[in-house]
Amino acid sequence: MEKIPYDDILSIQRKVNIVDVIAEYLPIEQKGKNYFAICPFHDDHNPSMSISPEKQIYTCFVCGASGNVFNFVMNYERISFSEAVFKVAKKAGINLNVTNVRKTVSKESKYEKFYKMFEITSKYYQNNIKTVYGKPANSYLNKRNISDDVIKEFEIGLSLNDNNVGKLLESKGFTSDEMVDIGLCNKKDKFIYDTFRNRIMFPIHDTLGNVVGFSGRIYNGEDESKYVNSKESVIFKKGKLLYNYKRAMNYARDKKQIIVVEGFMDVIRLWTIGVRNVVATMGTAITKEHADLIRRLSKNVILCFDGDKAGEKATISAIEMLEKIDIKPKIIRLEDDLDPDEYIIKKGEDKFLNHLKNAMSLLQFKLDVGKGKTDFNDYSDISNYINSIIGELEKIDDPVVYELTVKKLSKETGVDTSTINSLIKNVPKKERKIVSKFSTIKKNKYIMAEEYLVHYMLKTPDAIDLYQNNVPYLTDKNLSQIAIKILEFYEQNGYVNVTDFSLFLQDNDELIKEVLRIDQIDLPEKVSNEVIEDYIKTIDDGIIKREITKVRQKINVEQDVAKKVVLLEKLATLKKKECK
Ligand SMILES: [Zn+2]
Repeated sequence: MEKIPYDDILSIQRKVNIVDVIAEYLPIEQKGKNYFAICPFHDDHNPSMSISPEKQIYTCFVCGASGNVFNFVMNYERISFSEAVFKVAKKAGINLNVTNVRKTVSKESKYEKFYKMFEITSKYYQNNIKTVYGKPANSYLNKRNISDDVIKEFEIGLSLNDNNVGKLLESKGFTSDEMVDIGLCNKKDKFIYDTFRNRIMFPIHDTLGNVVGFSGRIYNGEDESKYVNSKESVIFKKGKLLYNYKRAMNYARDKKQIIVVEGFMDVIRLWTIGVRNVVATMGTAITKEHADLIRRLSKNVILCFDGDKAGEKATISAIEMLEKIDIKPKIIRLEDDLDPDEYIIKKGEDKFLNHLKNAMSLLQFKLDVGKGKTDFNDYSDISNYINSIIGELEKIDDPVVYELTVKKLSKETGVDTSTINSLIKNVPKKERKIVSKFSTIKKNKYIMAEEYLVHYMLKTPDAIDLYQNNVPYLTDKNLSQIAIKILEFYEQNGYVNVTDFSLFLQDNDELIKEVLRIDQIDLPEKVSNEVIEDYIKTIDDGIIKREITKVRQKINVEQDVAKKVVLLEKLATLKKKECK
């Protein structure tokens, strides 16, 4: 792979702020001069990742993930370093005119074509709804309390029965195979025709805000299916995206809460009543990818699925998925089998907002579901019900909530509280431990001297000079590589700092991680040359000590007397060196 010139990387990095870039992916909080986020690189429960605006570096103090803005984008999106540089450049509004870089991101540019096709189509649909042909659709939406502002915000459009999408895309140089591949057109015999006709069009965006699909809704009462959705394609995977994700991001961060609904109409309806921290699963069961996306928005999740039986089932499976990543959602169940959109239309926004304010705890929901399934005249049913709840009771930390819940359960079932309590004692409480990667490693003074030397090489040219003059042998492979690279960087640029040096290392994740770890060792900022010389001496001593041990081992097994003498002489010289 061709390398991107260091100067290009540097100039891009200078134009962005790592805090802003990470904030596009994760909810972040400011604490003092740094920012904190739930680390996306391990199963994090508390914000363990700190972001330094000063150093333009992120570091997770639990799993050790760290790097600069490009490393973050690369690791988060699982793309190559060049692709990450490209992405960040785009965010910064910089047009990278490096042809060799373009080659390395060919995969991205392939998708870029599809994004473009959707963008063109979406603009065409949006224009249609403003024309005279769009009047009925527009007034249909207005009648359903979707104002022109909302139409604009959600880029709602209209497909006509004119096959113009195919023609339009063809005129822009796209092939019919491409149109069919991404589901904008269909092929029958030899004819290409538009997939969506006479429907109100709702564009669906990916997490970065590209249109990747549509949902088309009928509005003139023809007896077709109510909704037609884009087919799955390389860029449109329902199991991997949430409707309204990008738009909801900032609202979720402000409210420190994310509401999850099933349909995109629910999202739009909630938007009209001022609830904007909301995303939709678009009717599919919540996947692991969905759960991860939700967690990126907020750990405080409210599930508000449709009020019918299917909605209850979907809620239960969503809970299971979210609990796997340690999210305990709150739950809203709407009466009369209504979905949030219908509920707000029929019962009014105040009633809905009241539900939102009083969302059920997970425990309450599980109790309700269990109760609904139990025949209280059947003793084994009651036993099953209580046993199904034990695990939940176990998780209650608050003794008051615990006691009240057990009392309520006792009253409902007629089983004594002491019996319920005795069941709970049988379940051992699990303790969760987070093992820090850094706490367990014990180091000898020689390795520490190597680390301290490299630490100061990242900060002062004096240390680099001393390294260059003495060339101590660093036994740690990473440290030795880093020292050589620092020297190289310094010779090219005439200065050194940890941020720029990390850019210089490009996609060498392992070294960057190590560099940042070494940089963060708690040592005095100012250092004298004598101290550094001491480190170098300790490092040299370590080498001699190792050498001595090796020679001693050889002497012990050597049979040949003459060779033994040579070894003994060698040992004597080494010992003299050691004493120096
Ligand atoms: Zn981490």
